[in-house]
Amino acid sequence: MTDLEKLLGEYRLVLGLEIHLHLKTKTKMFCYCDAKIYDSAPNSHTCPVCLGLPGALPIPNFEAVRKTQLLGLALGCSLNEHTRFDRKHYSYPDLPKGYQISQYQQPFCESGFIELSSGQKADIERIHLEEDTAKSMHKVDKTLIDFNKSGMPLVEIVTKPTFKTIDDAVEFSKRIQDAIRILGIADGDMEKGQMRLEANISLRTTEMEREGKIPTYKVEIKNINSFKFMEKAVKAEIIRQRGLLENGSQPIQENRGYDEDKNLTISQRGKEDAHDYRYFPEPDIPPMVFDEDYFEQLREELPELPSKIKTRLVSEYSLSVKNADFLTKGQGLELLNRFEELCSNNLEPEKVANLLINKQEYRELSSQDFIKKMQETNSKSIDSADLDEIIKSVVQENSGVVSQYKLGKISVIEFLVGQVMKKSKGTADALVVRDLLIGRLK
Ligand SMILES: [Zn+2]
Repeated sequence: MTDLEKLLGEYRLVLGLEIHLHLKTKTKMFCYCDAKIYDSAPNSHTCPVCLGLPGALPIPNFEAVRKTQLLGLALGCSLNEHTRFDRKHYSYPDLPKGYQISQYQQPFCESGFIELSSGQKADIERIHLEEDTAKSMHKVDKTLIDFNKSGMPLVEIVTKPTFKTIDDAVEFSKRIQDAIRILGIADGDMEKGQMRLEANISLRTTEMEREGKIPTYKVEIKNINSFKFMEKAVKAEIIRQRGLLENGSQPIQENRGYDEDKNLTISQRGKEDAHDYRYFPEPDIPPMVFDEDYFEQLREELPELPSKIKTRLVSEYSLSVKNADFLTKGQGLELLNRFEELCSNNLEPEKVANLLINKQEYRELSSQDFIKKMQETNSKSIDSADLDEIIKSVVQENSGVVSQYKLGKISVIEFLVGQVMKKSKGTADALVVRDLLIGRLK
């Protein structure tokens, strides 16, 4: 039984995500203010439009529109030919004009998906574009507002209540981060607030799950700024909702925040329904119409995405699936171009990948130096019969550690790898040694 199943008891998790991303554009969403706002002095990037002054007219940033549509294509969405912006009304100090320009009925992109490594398909409901609000900083006796963030182009990806585990939701978010970086449309740095998550959580019985029924309530956890934070917040909320359900009461629909110190979620406000926002078409921006020729151009522009690259690395370079996987997600993506460039010099791809992935010092070398160093090391590298001999002796000399390993303490393998590396005076490849050891200890 997994930790999550223990937490859930008789219940099953229903989880959906809203992911907000700052797009990387030259200017803000509806004005010409410079969008490089990070680390700049408060209120240094503002104008009448993004300050929300009366009478200021918004002009949509087409670069942001195009980047949103590219993201939609990358995530398998259909792109709408007819779209428009809407006003979403609510009152908050960081939104002085009393409404946010967003999209409601005709977003740019609808119904996409990502296939996750668990085999689950994560369904995306929509992707729309809006303006970000300003930032409030609460002090003891006052609230200060910085308008630099106000009017930043903000993409929102809304999933269906599609995730059954927290791991799937985290993987989905990481895959989005990889996709936006490959597309070059956003950086998704969570520490800078360029990527923010909200999680919609409810619990249902196994019977409801079988019948495909979704609970009538959902609780939204706001302002999630790291994957670790998401995991902790969702777990805390599961415990709270399960407690209520087991006592026969129904959790109410609301927004909650997560208090990391207390490991509890705390009620913030009742969750609005769409009609509370009194959406209506933004009268200052005409509806937009796109044709098939334009969509075809976008499709041609779409770069190769991680899942495709992974398949190609295995077929084109005969790379191991493990290394292909590493080079097509997270930090590994930063090594991908380097890998392909080096392989064009007729080097052995698997070796190049191992060096780039495992040896920091190789990453900084020029291609010429890389090739030189690789050839030098190759000539020094150990003969496989000698290596077998060393492995055999290390296994014999460390029978205590070996039996711990066989009893399930897998981590001690690293100790054995270390011993072999020592005896081979560093001429063996640690990954190869680990595989050989695992094979021998089976
Ligand atoms: Zn502005």
